[in-house]
Amino acid sequence: MLQSLMSDDHPLTLALLFERAATQFPDNELVSRFPDGSIHRYTYADFARRTRKLANALATLGIEPGDRVATLCWNEHRHLELYFAVPLSGAVVHTLNARLHRDELTYIVNDAADSALFVHSSLLDAFEEIRDRVSVEHVIVIPDDGPTPEGYRDYEELIADEPEQFEPPPLDERQASGMCHTSGTTGRPKGVLYSHRSTTLLALMSCMTDTVGMHERDCMLPVVPMYHANAWGFPYAATYAGAKQVFPGRDLSAESLLGLFADEGVTLTGGVPTVFLDVLRALDERPGEWDLSAMRSLVIGGSAAPPSQIAGFDRHGLHVTHAWGMTEMNPLGSIANLKRAHDGLDEADTLEVRARQGHAQPLIEFRHVAEDGVVQPWDGVALGELQVRGPTIARAYYGVDRADDFVGDGWFRTGDIVTIDEHGSILIADRARDVVKSGGEWISSVALENALMAHPGVVEAAVFAAEDERWGERPLAAVVHAPGSSVEAEELREFIAPQFLRWWLPAEFIPVDSVPKTSTGKFDKVALRERYGRRLIEGGE
Ligand code: AMP
Repeated sequence: MLQSLMSDDHPLTLALLFERAATQFPDNELVSRFPDGSIHRYTYADFARRTRKLANALATLGIEPGDRVATLCWNEHRHLELYFAVPLSGAVVHTLNARLHRDELTYIVNDAADSALFVHSSLLDAFEEIRDRVSVEHVIVIPDDGPTPEGYRDYEELIADEPEQFEPPPLDERQASGMCHTSGTTGRPKGVLYSHRSTTLLALMSCMTDTVGMHERDCMLPVVPMYHANAWGFPYAATYAGAKQVFPGRDLSAESLLGLFADEGVTLTGGVPTVFLDVLRALDERPGEWDLSAMRSLVIGGSAAPPSQIAGFDRHGLHVTHAWGMTEMNPLGSIANLKRAHDGLDEADTLEVRARQGHAQPLIEFRHVAEDGVVQPWDGVALGELQVRGPTIARAYYGVDRADDFVGDGWFRTGDIVTIDEHGSILIADRARDVVKSGGEWISSVALENALMAHPGVVEAAVFAAEDERWGERPLAAVVHAPGSSVEAEELREFIAPQFLRWWLPAEFIPVDSVPKTSTGKFDKVALRERYGRRLIEGGE
């Protein structure tokens, strides 16, 4: 074989992203909101200087290549410094979900055997609760406004006297740069190890116009927490592009976010549908209050963005880009951008395309497989479990043998049940574990939820399986009413009936104050099933 004469062995590492921001875009701004509401600003030049000092501090602490360094922190600039300093020094940045129950947090810290932990002072109480159950050698507090309590190192003091020069050790592109645990609604959370190479590829991919299209003139505000799958890679992509970045801190209320969007000229943001539901409500209640003319796209994913939400933002001249991904995919998988083939569709059909989860990101392949293992046709009808393959996808979990999830040939079983249309666009019917199987047939809870949430009297609707003597399972809907609305079950049934077969319609519509959510803001159907799952057999209140 004739080998090429290219520098193919030049490693794709986060050093490329970091150096580009530091040298090409030193004056571009990074903005953080602190818990007290005050704003911190600095530039990529300042960020680079402090990140190098932090990398030196890690060496002073004795952190070795391959060590796991945990963060328990909101979205802010020091979290970004850790995002780079840790992997540039050869260690692995392990982001901890600040909203997890302390038992899970304990399990995750011990599973990773973290050597050091950087904790934001506002989360110190949460850490104190698990302190005796984990053995982390160094705990460093990222200070807020007050002094760091006795017994802890202070982040600012830690880096203060370190030199501003830092030469990264030789980095292999395949070595781990980051670690994140899956949200684990069934079973224990599982560790996913991201490599320098996959994170760099993801950042490049996110800068392509046909994907998120991150570029230097963007102002990116990640609503998605930096502990949820690297905030979908946005901070890495934005740094690579040299975009301005705005970190909202702890306050993700509509008021706070809309204020930042307007004041900072945010062009691009991303997060789960729940947060954007509040944003849309605030816009509907107070139209014209915020100047959002700079905003070019709200990337919504993590769970299905209902068509009514996408159309709702359209009313305000704001474009939603629906995307799908998984922690195991580092994490972007698909994006619902319109293709040339969709030109000429009317408004309703266009909305339907935009509300699908979309076509595969570059470097990623899709196929879907029926229960008998047969690969299904892309006809928009056949259901199957989605499998994905590509260089940004995990090929195993950290320290857990779950060979079943990895089929071989690089295919990963996502656990999402989908149809794929002739344009290669996926539509998620359900998580495999959330599927409602009635009389042996699958019912799509996501389709029912989307239809219900299109009713003006409904804020949120979660559909889940309840045991049924005759049919095995029947769907139930937990419905949150809009303020002042008292829409009856019968009206809801009639509202959605034209779109579904009769046996798909929920057996009951249960009014609830709020739908329980997982730590990453998804409908917690395990909790709903625990509470209401035997209602059709035993009767309910
Ligand atoms: P996580 O790893 O916590 O981000 O969860 C990944 C799972 O979230 C996927 O397997 C899907 O079930 C779900 N998910 C992510 N994005 C979407 C989306 N746009 N629509 C529907 N489900 C989604």
